[in-house]
Amino acid sequence: MPGTLTITHDSRVPILSWTPRLPYPPLGYQAYWSPGVDGPWKGLNQEMLLLTQYRDDAHPIRTNNRIYYKVNYKLGAVELPWVTSTLFLADASPAWVQRVLGEIRRRHTAIMLPMGGEDCDLYLVRAAGEVCPTGEVVGNGFRCTFEGRLCPQCLGTGILGGYIRMADVKIRVRNAQEQVELRNDGIVVTEGRRGYMAAFPTVQTGDFFVRVNGERYAITNVTSRELQGHRTLQVFNINVIEPEHPLYEITETVLERAA
Ligand SMILES: [Zn+2]
Repeated sequence: MPGTLTITHDSRVPILSWTPRLPYPPLGYQAYWSPGVDGPWKGLNQEMLLLTQYRDDAHPIRTNNRIYYKVNYKLGAVELPWVTSTLFLADASPAWVQRVLGEIRRRHTAIMLPMGGEDCDLYLVRAAGEVCPTGEVVGNGFRCTFEGRLCPQCLGTGILGGYIRMADVKIRVRNAQEQVELRNDGIVVTEGRRGYMAAFPTVQTGDFFVRVNGERYAITNVTSRELQGHRTLQVFNINVIEPEHPLYEITETVLERAA
């Protein structure tokens, strides 16, 4: 099944996200930009992308302009086409859209104020790279079948290195006083407990983050707030990871050893 490339923008800076190639992950992805449908295509990333997202700071979209993107995937020295899409920014949105956008930006700023947002270490599951030797295709994805507590090579993700760590990503954690339930996999599900962050980097279920106080949270149920292609905010449920959970053992050092 072919993948799809979704392009939104954050104050005119294009944000690309695409579906991963399944079941076998590629070694990496390569993104291209073009001003026209037939090229010339310009490569965007120097090093292969290991996540299925890219923020194109070099080509902010202008009003009434269309820009073109394609993402290829790499298998060894071979590069194969994967997804394409375009971004168009319509002229003169209606006044009500401008007002609503202004209001959304105002709230966004309020939510992400330094006093509300907290610098967290974000761990994003790798979407590309070399596969784990104890991995295999299960269903439509590649999974690690290591039988110990935490696979030292892929950290349970199926891809060597496991995660991409991003330091100092602002996340606002909204605490809620609600019922807590302990699941048997060691992740506490807290109804109504939410996290908020800016449009990039894009997060998904499986990613987790570490707060300044050392608490760890698993991210699930991500939705993004968008208006007319402008992505303002990502909202997600956050579930406390118990200190006994293997995810607690993943640190910067463990990542370096795994990679
Ligand atoms: Zn593994």
